[in-house]
Amino acid sequence: MSDVLIKMSRNRAGAALIKALGLPNPVELARAEGGYVALPFTGKTVLLAGAAGGYAAEALSGAAGAAGATPLRQAPADAAARIDVVLLDATGCATPAALRALYDSFHPLMRRVARNGRVLIVAAPPELAAEPVAAAAARGVEGFNRSLGKELGKQGITVNLAYVAPDAVDRLAGVLRFFGGVQTTYVSGQTLRLTARVAAPAALPHTAALAGKVALVTGAARGIGLATAQRLAQEGAHVVCLDVPAAAEELARVCGAMGATALPLDIATAEAPARLAAFLKEKFGGVDIVVHNAGITRDRTLANMKEHYWDMVVGINFAAIVAIDAELLAGGALRDEGRVVCLSSISGVAGNYGQTNYATSKAALIGYVAAQAPLLAPRGIAINAIAPGFIETAMTAQMPFLSREIGRRANSLQQGGQPRDAAELIAFLCTPGCYGVSGETIRVCGQGLIGA
Ligand code: NAD
Repeated sequence: MSDVLIKMSRNRAGAALIKALGLPNPVELARAEGGYVALPFTGKTVLLAGAAGGYAAEALSGAAGAAGATPLRQAPADAAARIDVVLLDATGCATPAALRALYDSFHPLMRRVARNGRVLIVAAPPELAAEPVAAAAARGVEGFNRSLGKELGKQGITVNLAYVAPDAVDRLAGVLRFFGGVQTTYVSGQTLRLTARVAAPAALPHTAALAGKVALVTGAARGIGLATAQRLAQEGAHVVCLDVPAAAEELARVCGAMGATALPLDIATAEAPARLAAFLKEKFGGVDIVVHNAGITRDRTLANMKEHYWDMVVGINFAAIVAIDAELLAGGALRDEGRVVCLSSISGVAGNYGQTNYATSKAALIGYVAAQAPLLAPRGIAINAIAPGFIETAMTAQMPFLSREIGRRANSLQQGGQPRDAAELIAFLCTPGCYGVSGETIRVCGQGLIGA
């Protein structure tokens, strides 16, 4: 669905009208069309700042270098020069005084980061701090990150924070490519943790990152599922696209266009897990990537909710996922070094009026990936969830106009996300290079105000 304010802002008269009426003025966000490139930072101005005593600067510098840019240690003298990517090693922020590095680093940069620029801050995990003040200071960085995202978001700039354990700094490369790259379009104000929990994969390809992999995407006939299937195929995976039998015709059409395999199946039926596992084993010998995208809403206030609305939503959005994973794991269909991504939701993070059933199912997935991560780590499998905010799909097109317009604007980027934006985050979590990230739920919501 097109965004009328973005369309208006493209011409001078429209832009003037937006200003006169005091309407939100969303910028056109940068998006990639192609797949990952070997040197995404080539030609970009990358600045690396740091607090004294940190342990991540060298790793950040090396990762930026491997991505095509030698980071500057000081902003260019020419005040008109824009900075595309700002990296801050805040792992040394262990006291109130040390937090001053945040101010000192960013205050002079606030008008110098390029439109659609990227900021990645790296800090020490508060839970690993030796004493409470260090834990508090490290946690303070999160508040800074979120506020910076709100201040810079109007320019399409994304700001994210990675808490990185000292033994996981070598895992920053993949994270930097995503959060410093164009693909992070609609992911901002997020905090994720990097750990050494999952062993390094045998190969870490930067281009055609999923070549040779078999990926299953449920609910792939349209919306986020379709965009994800296309994105994974673009990265070289062979994709099995699953959707309900009623969507078989559409599924066959979209699969034909991307060379994918269609599998019409209702995931909520009792026989679905066994049928799916048998299909993947017989046809492909197993599966490397599972994206649990299929999901439904049946909104009613709890007082008005019939029990079958509760059962359907929890059944499809939660129980079916657990049953499928159990079957894929028990029968050995999910291969070592696998990747599993669940589609949670902002409703699962913050709750939502009229969505007790949906929010329960989506919050359950946040708990599920966190609990499964340590169990799957010994096999090199990473499991994560994404929580989309307002993404322009058939699901959100059904919303009443006013709620839709509020949902679309109530975020730091002042616009809805595209299915491709969610697909980019999912694709990152499916790559070998995300191996430092497991058990996390990352929002793709333009830093939505709800639940922030
Ligand atoms: P959508 O309704 O456009 O597409 C969902 C697809 O899942 C459909 O093709 C549908 O046929 C399929 N599906 C539903 N039940 C199924 C079943 N039992 N078996 C197999 N396939 C089934 O939805 P979307 O907006 O693309 O959302 C995709 C996922 O992202 C969902 O899990 C949704 O809850 C989540 N999500 C979406 C948004 C958003 O803004 N669009 C926000 C938060 C979370």
